[in-house]
Amino acid sequence: MNVKCPGCGVIIQTDHPDKIGYINKDVLEKRKDNFLCERCYRLKHYNEVKNEEVAIDFDKVFKHISNEKCLIVNIIDAFDLLGSVIPDINKKFPKAKVLIIANKYDLFMRSNRPTKLRTYLKSYLKEKNINYCDLIVTSSIEEDAGKPIYDAIKKYYNNLPVYFVGMTNVGKSTLINNISKAKDTFLNLTTSNQVGTTIDVSKFVLKDLIIGDTPGYYNNKQLTHYLDKKSLNLVMPKKFVKPRVYQLYKNDTIFVSGIFSLTYLDSVNKLEQNNDKIGISFYVANTLMLYRTKNDPIEYLDKHKDDYLSVPNKKERDRLGKLKTYELDIKANEEVVISGVGFVNFTKPCKVRITIYENIDVEIRKAMI
Ligand code: GDP
Repeated sequence: MNVKCPGCGVIIQTDHPDKIGYINKDVLEKRKDNFLCERCYRLKHYNEVKNEEVAIDFDKVFKHISNEKCLIVNIIDAFDLLGSVIPDINKKFPKAKVLIIANKYDLFMRSNRPTKLRTYLKSYLKEKNINYCDLIVTSSIEEDAGKPIYDAIKKYYNNLPVYFVGMTNVGKSTLINNISKAKDTFLNLTTSNQVGTTIDVSKFVLKDLIIGDTPGYYNNKQLTHYLDKKSLNLVMPKKFVKPRVYQLYKNDTIFVSGIFSLTYLDSVNKLEQNNDKIGISFYVANTLMLYRTKNDPIEYLDKHKDDYLSVPNKKERDRLGKLKTYELDIKANEEVVISGVGFVNFTKPCKVRITIYENIDVEIRKAMI
């Protein structure tokens, strides 16, 4: 049997449930053309990732296109740059032109979109030394998202192959569903059959173009990678993120559910150290509950991790590793980013302590808002 999964291109097999490409034989027979391998099915419907998939070597996956002269359409999540920008994209695809599509701009305040956001993204990408031919800011849930993307592809592709590339959850499937002719995301036209690759490229149609869709790239330093469907629904912002603003005194802590805590330690300006109040704004999904406490954060988390701080739950915490503490000096116009969760900004320079699971990236960056 040499049937491929329309979702990820892996060769389907019915014998080894613990290996990639598995699908139950009866399900395969029953569903005929309309099936997905178990991995894609679970990923699509439950956002479940089994351990062995974490080990998939995506460099190997992309190996057969990495040396092609082509146009890489790289979708990133504008709300989660740390979790979704591929820092070495030019190295991964040295012969390709890269077109960046920054998705989900609807999550930002109107005053921030899209021109201001575009200016910010340009300087962010420059700082990361990412070379690209163009940058489009979009929202894949908006009806007219396709036209500027199609126009840009036409402008830059030069009759070369075009591939969509992106981390999981950036909205790649939603975008493809929206802009392609196909009703179903994974239209199984022809799949490339390069020797030596386990997972490869599906195709979809965009007007007169046939485009390769590559499997979602996992970022194991980003929170959503570790979450099951229920938590994921709470963590991933669905619509405009309302900033939640707190006035904190020294040693006050805010918990973002049980995901991370931020403790205000001190003002950096010596003259202001008596005026120890600060305004801190949290940009995280509206569905996440925030709690304020003066108690020791580690003890507080331990006490409440299975009641109101139960995102992440026990199973997810086990995957996320140990708790880690960062003491950060925040300068003027800087903010703290938590990969896959959101960002926090401050009314003045300060020292803060973040406590978070070791597998999640934390970054200080120039303030976006
Ligand atoms: P993929 O893993 O990159 O294919 O991502 P999906 O297309 O499955 O989208 C992941 C999540 O992001 C889903 O909950 C989508 O509804 C949501 N999403 C996708 N695009 C947008 C967007 O433009 N705006 C917002 N707010 N949510 C989006």
